[in-house]
Amino acid sequence: MSTRHTGIGMTSQRTRARMVERLRQLGIKDEVVLAALNAIPRHIFIEEALSSRAYEEISLPIGFGQTISNPYIVARMSELLRAGGELHKVLEIGTGCGYQAAVLSRIAKEVYSVERIAPLLAKARVSLRELRLPNVRLKHADGCMGLPEAGPFDGIIMAAAATHVPPELLQQLAEGGRMILPIGSAEQRLRLIERTADGLVETDLEPVKFVPLMQGVS
Ligand code: SAH
Repeated sequence: MSTRHTGIGMTSQRTRARMVERLRQLGIKDEVVLAALNAIPRHIFIEEALSSRAYEEISLPIGFGQTISNPYIVARMSELLRAGGELHKVLEIGTGCGYQAAVLSRIAKEVYSVERIAPLLAKARVSLRELRLPNVRLKHADGCMGLPEAGPFDGIIMAAAATHVPPELLQQLAEGGRMILPIGSAEQRLRLIERTADGLVETDLEPVKFVPLMQGVS
């Protein structure tokens, strides 16, 4: 393996293990999620000039006006999605640099991720190919439509904030499935939506800061 993967100094496995310890202190409890964040080299998703900051508790620019979320939010959303159970098929809206998709590949059997910005998706493809994650499929598409050909999903995760929940996504949420997304514009909150036998159950959680969900592809 090249040092690009294994990392040195601020991008080493030791730095990553320290990040995981910090996530524990911040309240992340799901060992499967913590193991996933411990395994995926976050620095390879970040441009070299910033990669020494990859394991800090900050969001970082990934180009095209977009950002990769800080480690805690990636872990928190993954934990909420898993809810301690097995995930079969998951849909992510907003691949960005591909980091969250890589984490999901360790906690779900199949991961579908859609991104509207073609050159960003192309970069994510390169990073994900390097890690050889055979269960991640990427698509250039407007995620507001979901991915009907692959659904229904038992988990849907949105990496950009919407003002309302796209109805297409709710339609593609399987019974027993969970969707986690940021809702709002100037002020946003994480929302958990569960599809139970009796219908949808929505829970508003903590305030967050995400880039806005956009319509169409570019
Ligand atoms: N999960 C990503 C975070 C990327 S930021 C990561 O780990 O890096 C959010 C991403 O959502 C951006 O790349 C943005 O282009 C994308 N996005 C916004 N609206 C979208 C839409 N309607 N369909 C697909 N992707 C969208």
